[in-house]
Amino acid sequence: MQITDIPASVHTRGAKSPVRHTVTLIPGDGVGPEIAAAVQRILAAAGAPLDWERCNAGATVFARGVASGVPQETLDSIRRTGLALKGPLETPVGHGGKSANVTLRKLFETYANVRPAREISGVETPYSGRGIDFVVVRENVEDLYAGIEHMQSPSVAQCLKIITRKGSEKIIRLAFELALAEGRTSVHCATKANIMKLTEGLFKRVFEEVARDYPSIRAQHIIVDNAAHQLALRPEQFEVIVTTNLNGDILSDLASGLVGGLGFAPSANLGTQAAIFEAVHGSAPDIAGRGIANPSGLLLSAVMMLRHLGHMDTARRVKNALLHVIEQGRVRTADFARGGVSAGTDAFTDAVIDALGKEPARMAGGEYSRLRLPSPGPQSMIEPKQREVTGADIFIESTLAPKVLGDSLAALAADSPLALSMISNRGTQVYPGETPATDCVDVYRCRFLTRDAGKAAGDAVLLALLAKVAASYHWMHVEKLQNFDNAPAYTRAQGED
Ligand code: NAP
Repeated sequence: MQITDIPASVHTRGAKSPVRHTVTLIPGDGVGPEIAAAVQRILAAAGAPLDWERCNAGATVFARGVASGVPQETLDSIRRTGLALKGPLETPVGHGGKSANVTLRKLFETYANVRPAREISGVETPYSGRGIDFVVVRENVEDLYAGIEHMQSPSVAQCLKIITRKGSEKIIRLAFELALAEGRTSVHCATKANIMKLTEGLFKRVFEEVARDYPSIRAQHIIVDNAAHQLALRPEQFEVIVTTNLNGDILSDLASGLVGGLGFAPSANLGTQAAIFEAVHGSAPDIAGRGIANPSGLLLSAVMMLRHLGHMDTARRVKNALLHVIEQGRVRTADFARGGVSAGTDAFTDAVIDALGKEPARMAGGEYSRLRLPSPGPQSMIEPKQREVTGADIFIESTLAPKVLGDSLAALAADSPLALSMISNRGTQVYPGETPATDCVDVYRCRFLTRDAGKAAGDAVLLALLAKVAASYHWMHVEKLQNFDNAPAYTRAQGED
């Protein structure tokens, strides 16, 4: 895997210094246009060398009948610029529309979601004064979000959790690169590898491999539930947390809550072809159009974008001006005025512009260098020296009792090179043996393994067995069981020896 600087050709226009960048601006829904206008004004006043291509996505686009919520002209613009600053997009509820946010993440393979959580002086929280300052780096396209779901029977649903070596390596390298770029000394990897040994376990193993390339950074694995516990108890111990998609979804919102809520939370969705920067909060329809929204989340996202482009000084100036205004506390939008006098979006924006060149007394913007993005190379794939198919799990829909089903399948396979090894229900072995406590449902996993342990099972053997099973039972899914380099590439059921 190579580490590359962001390709200049993607983002830059013109050869003179400072290099100007064209950014696709998606103001979005609800409060989006108000906070986007505020951010544009502040960036212009700070002299950020940006040109904007204004595009639509979200509610107005769904209303035009575009099922993805993102029209072709917006996709074309992001393809051209490689950069987007995005306001919140409403997701239609209850009438089948997809999330326009997820569409953008998937189409542009923005595999990294980066969410800093930093205490802001002047935003009071139960943790104020503890110096919270860490970043959650969340894998953004794999895991349960791959969206591969099936009803195995009318009453049993399944969702496939996809974790790949390639996807894990990209996000984990990015986390270490981010640690270097931000002068941080440790990276935690949060997984549930103790339970999901192959999926979350792969992420943990790749973390341990990649960590060897970054000897100056302390690398530590933490079980994700303990990470949540530690975040509530001692959040200041963390610097960078890298994790899988669902874990990261939850931990990053928890992180925002520790430092003042979603109104101040920025995020970056990074990929090798495009980077999309957005506030974490939604369209806040209850306050839309009233001129009272807080633009801080989107402004801090724009600061991340400036850093991503290498405009470190402008990024620092804008961030320090915002932190100065918040710390002074004289101009606050309603969401953090705590019942005191509150200012509207425009007045808050003016205050930040007036503060350009000033710094907060505490917690000024830190020193950052430009993040180098990992790009995948052929070494992400590994090929075992030896692989053999040793059997299959056949998933069967049946309301029979486990013993009745098991005896019947064992008899069906009597003359096959594959023998019934066990049956599980919801992951627990229910045959052979007695498991009176298991509350069975109508989907069984039936595991067949070669009778001769040293002998692989060819497709002809598997298909012949499947045909026999299919003559008597409703099967819906078959998974081959393989050994890679003599180690089983599948897990055992609870209770299976
Ligand atoms: P939300 O829009 O984040 O709003 C929750 C509450 O947070 C608001 O009612 C408001 O609280 C406050 N708030 C949020 N942003 C604010 C801001 N900039 N300034 C001041 N207060 C702010 O969450 P939601 O109501 O669950 O979602 C609304 C819509 O947004 C949904 O359609 C959802 O799908 C979408 N959404 C989009 C994104 C995205 O595009 N990335 C993310 C999340 C949700 P008060 O009641 O105190 O005014």
